[in-house]
Amino acid sequence: MKRVILIKYGELSTKKGNRNYFINTLHRMISDKLKNYSVKIHKDRARMTILFDEKDLPQIQNIINKIFGIHTYHIATVCDSDNEVIQKTLLEMIQKEAFSTFKIDVKRCDKSFPIPSQDYNRVLGGLLLKNIPNISVDVHHPDLWIHVEIREDSTYIYHNSFEGCGGYPVGTQARGMLMLSGGIDSPVAGYLAMKRGVEIDAVYFEAIPHTSLEARNKVIALCKKLSFYTDMIHLHIVNFTKIQESIYQYCRDDYCITIMRRMMYRIMEKLAKQHNAYVIINGESIGQVASQTLTSMSVINSVTNMPVIRPVACLDKLEIIDLARKIDTYETSILPFEDCCTIFVPKHPVINPRMDICVEEENKFDYSSMIEEAVSSMNTVNVSSEEDEFHDFL
Ligand code: ATP
Ligand code: MG
Repeated sequence: MKRVILIKYGELSTKKGNRNYFINTLHRMISDKLKNYSVKIHKDRARMTILFDEKDLPQIQNIINKIFGIHTYHIATVCDSDNEVIQKTLLEMIQKEAFSTFKIDVKRCDKSFPIPSQDYNRVLGGLLLKNIPNISVDVHHPDLWIHVEIREDSTYIYHNSFEGCGGYPVGTQARGMLMLSGGIDSPVAGYLAMKRGVEIDAVYFEAIPHTSLEARNKVIALCKKLSFYTDMIHLHIVNFTKIQESIYQYCRDDYCITIMRRMMYRIMEKLAKQHNAYVIINGESIGQVASQTLTSMSVINSVTNMPVIRPVACLDKLEIIDLARKIDTYETSILPFEDCCTIFVPKHPVINPRMDICVEEENKFDYSSMIEEAVSSMNTVNVSSEEDEFHDFL
């Protein structure tokens, strides 16, 4: 029996004007992700079908489950839109299932099919009752809810439903620059931004020798986990050592973190502009640490006019952890390698920083030239779920 993956677009269908753009982006993403499999993908305005080789189904499902823009999908058996063929296929397919109650839901999309939906419901229901012992119809809570969609090209029969990861296809929004640390929050922030269709580049600030190569590897590993949801992520690795050392040499202890983050934002803005990104994305969460109080965020944010999206701003840590587990970044995130945010942490970081003090402290060293240097000496690694190109880089 021939089977296809039948994808319904869900939320996409509310996008009237942009519908084709969304569908084409999703189609491109699916085609690209399945390029190593022998599949035939067909799209129309309401659905997409993927004809697959049965032996590849588990791997293909693993991939499909990480493509945004897919809300639900079904594995449907396909046959000709002919009464006899439909009956034979349905029976053959359903005889393999263990169930006691069922419901048949016929959709006659092809009005040239001679039997109206309601009548055909009864025909097919009768067929099953006659041929399969000890089963009955239950229209409210059936064990098996069998859908029969009769279309011009073919008929699709399915009774299963798989949840996709929802959202919009990555690439339907402009690019954002994700601040990706080795922590728990920022990979989740990246995931949530991608879920809304945002294509991301990632930026990691490192301070070698104060931070280790293991810390960098960990960020690359996290980036790779995120890349399963898109095609490829450019990970920009910024050498932050000189800036960080200068901050600790010249600035007031309690303002070091605030100033460090203002420096990061300044660099982020430059990198975003350089790489056609329209927003900065990060894993800040309101009140999580001193630099994430609303007053801190406002003082830090004031160095850039670029919008900053904080997808986890209003989530509790436990909610963020749940998501991190769901996207399989949690175990990597908790590996104990120090990040540049965790070295030199002052005993009492300021909770309500003052802008004038930040400016005064920052003027104690020539940070502009250091920022230029950090931007121009940055390295980029292309991280994708397939290739391990970055091994050369380590
Ligand atoms: P996470 O928040 O990801 O768990 P963290 O707790 O170490 O990591 P915070 O101090 O909470 O990081 O920093 C808030 C956000 O700033 C991070 O979520 C991340 O987006 C960004 N950030 C922090 N450190 C770095 C870094 N070294 N490189 C890139 N971005 C960073
Ligand atoms: Mg955090």
